[in-house]
Amino acid sequence: MTWEKRIDMGFCIFCDIIAGERSASVVYEDSLVVVILDINPVTLGHLLVIPRQHVAEIGDMDECTGAHMFLIATRLSAALRRSSVRCEAINMFLADGEAAGQEIFHVHLHVFPRFKGDTVRIEADWSAHPARDELDRTANLIRSAYEVSAD
Ligand SMILES: [Zn+2]
Repeated sequence: MTWEKRIDMGFCIFCDIIAGERSASVVYEDSLVVVILDINPVTLGHLLVIPRQHVAEIGDMDECTGAHMFLIATRLSAALRRSSVRCEAINMFLADGEAAGQEIFHVHLHVFPRFKGDTVRIEADWSAHPARDELDRTANLIRSAYEVSAD
């Protein structure tokens, strides 16, 4: 089922949690975001920072809410390290779109503890070394699009 269909049907697990219609282990909440524990954690203490507003893609989010999400994720990262939850390091991960691995189409930022010997693997082919002119061309494409969106 596509995300458009799920939204058309009014189904969003995060909106249900925010509305109090579904249970969750809430770690933090304020007027803009709710932070819960992931029920399928990659490591124990895996947090999801979720904006209260239903938005599927981060580019469509209110910028203040986006900035606030990262502020809260930063504070909770410090809290994870201070807590007795096993945490030697932290990853943050945001999947924006199906091809990026997004499965719930309501923006959410993963913040999860890492430690030596954990089972988390982030796989990618890091062997590409594009030439400078290709990097510059790509930078121009993104800069032009940024200038249009910043108008
Ligand atoms: Zn939602």
